[in-house]
Amino acid sequence: MTAHSPDIVIAGGGLSASLAALRLAPAGRVLLVDAKPDPLAGHTWSFHDGDLDASQRAWLAPAIRRTWDGQDVRFPGYGRQLRAGYASLDADSLGAALQRLPNVTTLQARMAAMDGRSLTLSDGGRIEARLAIDARGFRPHPAVEVRFQKFLGQELRLTAPHGLTRPVIMDATVPQQDGYRFFYLLPFDDTRLLVEDTYYSDAAHLSADRQRADIADYAAARGWQVAAVVREETGVLPITLRLDADAFWKSLPPGVPAIGLRALRFHPLTGYSLPHAVRSADLVARHWQQGPWALAKALRRDSLADARAQGFYRLLSRMLFEAAAPDERRRVMERFYRLPEPLIERLYAGRSTLADKARILTGRPPVPVAKALRCLPGTLKERPA
Ligand SMILES: Cc1cc2nc3c(=O)[nH]c(=O)nc-3n(C[C@H](O)[C@H](O)[C@H](O)COP(=O)(O)OP(=O)(O)OC[C@H]3O[C@@H](n4cnc5c(N)ncnc54)[C@H](O)[C@@H]3O)c2cc1C
Repeated sequence: MTAHSPDIVIAGGGLSASLAALRLAPAGRVLLVDAKPDPLAGHTWSFHDGDLDASQRAWLAPAIRRTWDGQDVRFPGYGRQLRAGYASLDADSLGAALQRLPNVTTLQARMAAMDGRSLTLSDGGRIEARLAIDARGFRPHPAVEVRFQKFLGQELRLTAPHGLTRPVIMDATVPQQDGYRFFYLLPFDDTRLLVEDTYYSDAAHLSADRQRADIADYAAARGWQVAAVVREETGVLPITLRLDADAFWKSLPPGVPAIGLRALRFHPLTGYSLPHAVRSADLVARHWQQGPWALAKALRRDSLADARAQGFYRLLSRMLFEAAAPDERRRVMERFYRLPEPLIERLYAGRSTLADKARILTGRPPVPVAKALRCLPGTLKERPA
């Protein structure tokens, strides 16, 4: 190591790596190594207020593009204003927050191998540090069985105000196809909004041209005239049906700290990973000076505890994908959004109580998934195929 070596080198420069760098600065020098020239490009990352505590919201604040006081959901027979606040980061806001940190640098390079203190690059170069972290994003693994939340979104600039004041996190009044389908709307200002055509689907494939046409139709049906498509983003997020967390962690090298989707840190039912990345960043800040083994152990312990606590959400994912017919999924979601708001907020935050779980499964009146569950006892089993 030289005087110019980073304290921490991270393989990957996406969300989890960037948040770890943001959380750490100015305590340590961080180098983010990513194969892509602009790893944050084409992303908007959102979260619900209740997902984070006050201190987490405070250190994340410089990276936030926009916050809102509430959010809406819409179904054919039912619409609701939810009081929970919502916030979004995007490539520009997170990138600008990182650029203000002199201790954080980036390098475009592909990592070929790593251990807890170094990266070997595909061109043979080597980077040493006090600590190396793996944040290379999702990869399929035999210990986890997933389905998909997939979407194409366009940030539109309209010729006149759209009239929305809050995000519409689900507009499921649209025709259902390819699983559960809804539009997601983020009004950044009076005339700018992100419109995403989203599917909870068994297949990962996206037809970009078709989704672009569907977004244009959706906007036209609301009388919105598009002045410009400012940018576009696509995502295929894993939704977890089954997970053998012990087998997963046994397959990882024990002395290499892992964060983000690489470590399967995301909500099994929504695919959201920002709250997990924030929590991992806090752990990195707390343990990095103890070296790679101590940090890897703390992250693994947190992940295993979380995997145990999230079994209920994997059960809900199985019920949604396996017990409910594709055209019934919207009805399942509509019933869910009729439940009390605190219960909905705790589900998003991954903190459902026993009473919440009972209420979701039994419902008043009984939810269709409960019926489906009785019909399909195999649905209860959690064993990756
Ligand atoms: C468009 C989009 C929108 C999303 N919206 C939300 C949201 O609103 N809220 C939410 O919580 N979640 C959201 N997600 C889901 C999830 O939070 C993101 O996928 C998130 O970016 C995952 O963070 P990560 O750091 O694990 O992986 P990534 O952000 O995917 O970063 C991994 C990085 O590692 C790099 N890499 C991989 N292999 C190598 C290698 N060998 N060498 C060097 N670099 C390498 C990749 O180039 C990549 O940039 C969204 C996902 C997408 C795609």
